[in-house]
Amino acid sequence: GNDGVPGRVRVAVRLRPRNAEELVADADFADCVELQPELKRLKLRKNNWDSDTYEFDEVLTEFASQKRVYEVVAKPVVESVLDGYNGTVMAYGQTGTGKTFTLGRLGGEDTSCRGIMVRSMEDILADISLETDSVCVSYLQLYMETIQDLLNPVNDNISIVEDPKTGDVSLPGATIVEIRDQQSFVELLRLGEAHRIAANTKLNTESSRSHAILMIHVKRSVVGGDESLSSETNNGSHLVKPSKPLVRRSKLVIVDLAGSERVHKSGSEGHMLEEAKSINLSLSALGKCINALAENSSHVPVRDSKLTRLLKDSFGGTARTSLIVTVGPSPRHRGETSTTILFGQRAM
Ligand code: ADP
Ligand code: MG
Repeated sequence: GNDGVPGRVRVAVRLRPRNAEELVADADFADCVELQPELKRLKLRKNNWDSDTYEFDEVLTEFASQKRVYEVVAKPVVESVLDGYNGTVMAYGQTGTGKTFTLGRLGGEDTSCRGIMVRSMEDILADISLETDSVCVSYLQLYMETIQDLLNPVNDNISIVEDPKTGDVSLPGATIVEIRDQQSFVELLRLGEAHRIAANTKLNTESSRSHAILMIHVKRSVVGGDESLSSETNNGSHLVKPSKPLVRRSKLVIVDLAGSERVHKSGSEGHMLEEAKSINLSLSALGKCINALAENSSHVPVRDSKLTRLLKDSFGGTARTSLIVTVGPSPRHRGETSTTILFGQRAM
């Protein structure tokens, strides 16, 4: 729990409403969780009379609007990206609990449905100047430790390069598209989603088995700053230094993580098992990193997976991270819900 402290992870939990099937099939059963948003608490039912209580930075009920979710989870991160710091927003949870709804929803006619990706870009475009600043986007899928370019599927094995001096992470070969208006951004997301479906059909897998990663690069020229202020010299005269335009780069990474559900080893074999192992590897590596951040450890173990290597320069330091864990209400998924909640708790 840490309001606005850079370098640490802010964790919110969001409950999705019961779907049509759950309303009917589980009509006689209570939800497995009970939320107390004003206390920022979630109670996970153990049985009819007992429950475990957990605290989060934010607790978002099934009535929380997309706008509110954006404001509490992503907006502080977007604002710090606009100030020149790196930021990350991630959604973690079982498949079907609302990760993509929360992050990737485009909204169409009904703008109230729009998710965090679209709202973030809207705020970025509103804040920057298209004459002096720029905003560029890459959209990637990470599947079985391979990075694919969702904006150009021919690039299906992108490598991660780290600047030995600055530690900055870059992805040479990944498509980067400059964005000048909201409409073209939405079209780009739509294109990326179509490519994702096609790629996953070819790979014979589901989108829930891979991570989708949107990177928004913001470049701002900061004219002036302290450099351009006139300063007093020894002899009392004013020396006006020429103003040196500084370029400030930052990035916002939005990650729709692969479904966190346990794949039962007994029931799966071959490809499915390899897929499950790969997801477990990257999610547990991510868990270790955000745990290290939470404990203020000087060592964040980013080497263990491509996911964490990719996020390296967004972890710790001045970077800001928000994690939203998504849960469903169904008592049938109490076990998975419990695992998700514990992942979120470890990040705090
Ligand atoms: P995930 O990406 O975690 O697998 P989705 O975002 O695809 O889950 O959500 C699963 C289903 O639940 C979708 O039909 C989605 O529209 C619906 N849903 C998720 N969250 C909400 C919510 N907060 N309100 C209404 N419907 C939701
Ligand atoms: Mg999804």
